Amino acid sequence: MSETFDAYVLEEQGPAVLKKLSDQDLPDGDVTVDVSYSSLNYKDGLALTGRGKIARSFPMVCGVDLAGTVADSQSPDWCVGDEVIATGWGLSETRPGGYSRRQRVQSDMLVRKPDGLSLPQTMAIGTAGLTAMLCVMSLEKAGLEPERGPVVVTGAAGGVGSVAVAVLAALGYEVHAASGRPAARDYLRGLGAAGFVGRGDLAEASKRPLESERWAGGVDTVGSTTLATVLKQTRYGGSVAACGLAGGSDLPTTVLPFILRGVSLLGVDSVMAPAGLRAEAWRRLGTDLPAGALDAITSIRGFSELPDLAEQILAGATQGRIVIDCRR
Ligand code: NDP
Repeated sequence: MSETFDAYVLEEQGPAVLKKLSDQDLPDGDVTVDVSYSSLNYKDGLALTGRGKIARSFPMVCGVDLAGTVADSQSPDWCVGDEVIATGWGLSETRPGGYSRRQRVQSDMLVRKPDGLSLPQTMAIGTAGLTAMLCVMSLEKAGLEPERGPVVVTGAAGGVGSVAVAVLAALGYEVHAASGRPAARDYLRGLGAAGFVGRGDLAEASKRPLESERWAGGVDTVGSTTLATVLKQTRYGGSVAACGLAGGSDLPTTVLPFILRGVSLLGVDSVMAPAGLRAEAWRRLGTDLPAGALDAITSIRGFSELPDLAEQILAGATQGRIVIDCRR
């Protein structure tokens, strides 16, 4: 009989439950990974609590990220002992994810652990950090550079927001952190934020279709009226990368920022981002996210704490990035 291991499994009803699985329960795939670390993302909170429709089939192992060591490989690209990462690609949606001490994946989902980052550090970045870097890269592609003026990051004390603040500050931008947590100001200042905006200042919908021009660019993790206000405040020719919906999935705006100020709204998705773009984003995270900032945003928590942590991230009560040590 093969060895059993723990995994958080979602059935059609209710929150995920801790179950014993064995290799026979793992999906098809050509690489089996001994998972050491995963991470906690907003989407994981939705999945674990059963409050968001994340899984497309059941039973489903939760966890959008995983990092570990190759235990078995039928692929010429990977050898036993290689340290690997997988983020997105439908993990916990269309195929079992990282909240399991062992998982089987397709070889092309894997990224080699970048030199200079430890496995827990890769999960401190995880889907949230990858998304933050993809936002920065899309803003750069749209022409943003530090000389163009201040940039705003919404949901700044969250996972995506914290990495975005740290990377943009390290690249020389004047970063303004929009947060609902005044107590997080020292934390955000430590990541390089130069200014602060109250969450309510952006979330409150003003009737005006345009406001004074403030931002050369922005990273928005909140959506809804917050994103609408950021668009109204974006300077002529500026751009805003939208990746999240922590405040709502609606977008109550007019076309005026786009047609009168030439503002660009850039959609960012990390789940199905192509392999080449991911590789470039991981490379950039290795060079543009200061190690001190990464450590400052990270806390490492145990596997058994996941149900509580899921509630906390949905309540906006977690700060920065949470790495899950799947071995304890
Ligand atoms: P976190 O919960 O870590 O961060 C979200 C932050 O948003 C919170 O910390 C809080 O920041 C702020 N916030 C929470 N609730 C509200 C609210 N009701 N109104 C306004 N602000 C709020 O989540 P993540 O960083 O993991 O994810 C952020 C968003 O990005 C999520 O919506 C997630 O689904 C999305 N996402 C999208 C991806 C993609 O590929 N497009 C990939 C990863 C994430 P503060 O306390 O500072 O105000």
